[in-house]
Amino acid sequence: MQTWLVTGGAGFIGGNFVLSAVAAGVRIVNLDALTYAGNPDTLKALDGHAQHVFVRGDIGDAALVARLLAEHRPAAIVNFAAESHVDRSIDGPAAFVQTNVVGTLALLEAVRDHWRTLPDGERDAFRFLHVSTDEVYGSLGESGAFTEETPYAPNSPYSASKAASDHLVRAFHHTYGLPVLTTNCSNNYGPYQFPEKLIPLIILKALAGDALPVYGDGRNVRDWLYVSDHCAAIRRVLEAGRIGETYNVGGDAERMNIDVVKTICALLDARRPRGDGQPREAQIRFVADRPGHDRRYAIDASKLKRELGWAPEVAFEEGIARTVDWYLAHEDWTQRVLDGSYRLERIGQGVAA
Ligand code: NAD
Repeated sequence: MQTWLVTGGAGFIGGNFVLSAVAAGVRIVNLDALTYAGNPDTLKALDGHAQHVFVRGDIGDAALVARLLAEHRPAAIVNFAAESHVDRSIDGPAAFVQTNVVGTLALLEAVRDHWRTLPDGERDAFRFLHVSTDEVYGSLGESGAFTEETPYAPNSPYSASKAASDHLVRAFHHTYGLPVLTTNCSNNYGPYQFPEKLIPLIILKALAGDALPVYGDGRNVRDWLYVSDHCAAIRRVLEAGRIGETYNVGGDAERMNIDVVKTICALLDARRPRGDGQPREAQIRFVADRPGHDRRYAIDASKLKRELGWAPEVAFEEGIARTVDWYLAHEDWTQRVLDGSYRLERIGQGVAA
């Protein structure tokens, strides 16, 4: 059985990844600092599971990372750990530089030092996969799509910190030969997403009868990928990606924010009509735009499709319906996020609060 060290595996994508990897027979050592975004409830199904070792800690703690690498000898590292919310990066960029840049550097150094000591066969098979975003490429006009050759032009403190981490990962390959892989993915959605992000935020506010805030004119375009498709792409790149390469991951599902919000309203109206029978679209309110708001992202994932045979399996209409249904069926999960009690939960040997 293979062991992988996953960082940030109590977050949205990392949590989904850990659940699916354990189900696929991989043993996971899960290193997560349990910031506000780390949610032990997401991993409840793995309580006491022999294939899941949870360790509460920081990717910037080189001594801890070195100990975990020596003790567990993972065949791969998958680095999800990051500060990930653009609005928070506008209010406080320093935490983003600390984890996404300084933390990633410390992790890379610890991994490099461990990798160098491995016997030949183990060293050749070892991989460090860095999970990143399409936001590093900046903003697009009406047409075109980001390819792996698009120059980096990050516009928010979040995307600037992710761009810096991507560059460090690349440099560790070119300078030290570390066998790295990088994926740059578009917006994810699906189960277990923290309700500060657009889709869960709108679902919960719509259900509560609150105003549904939409930035600017709502015509900003994002490409959306269902989270299980992202997890499958990461596994595929880990398995067969060419060392040192980057792979764009996207859902071929460009949507304007306002259309995403209207779709959620319609799904909820059909599933759980408002008491007064009014359509939830009436709750939409346009609010002052996010500073520096990128207008459009679109991703060309043809390299990943052509070279590694990956393709998204969940179309946006199906994925958004599944997501709405998941939030309707897991009001306990969201309630514990909203009242803060999720932070008091324990995972294995780690304690959340
Ligand atoms: P998230 O905010 O839901 O989860 C981040 C996790 O990292 C949390 O569990 C948090 O506790 C942990 N963490 C934060 N700082 C840490 C540190 N210093 N040490 C250890 N753990 C730490 O994020 P997400 O949406 O799941 O995103 C995961 C990764 O994927 C990020 O690197 C993000 O940049 C990237 N990404 C996200 C999206 C998206 O749409 N959400 C799209 C493309 C790429």
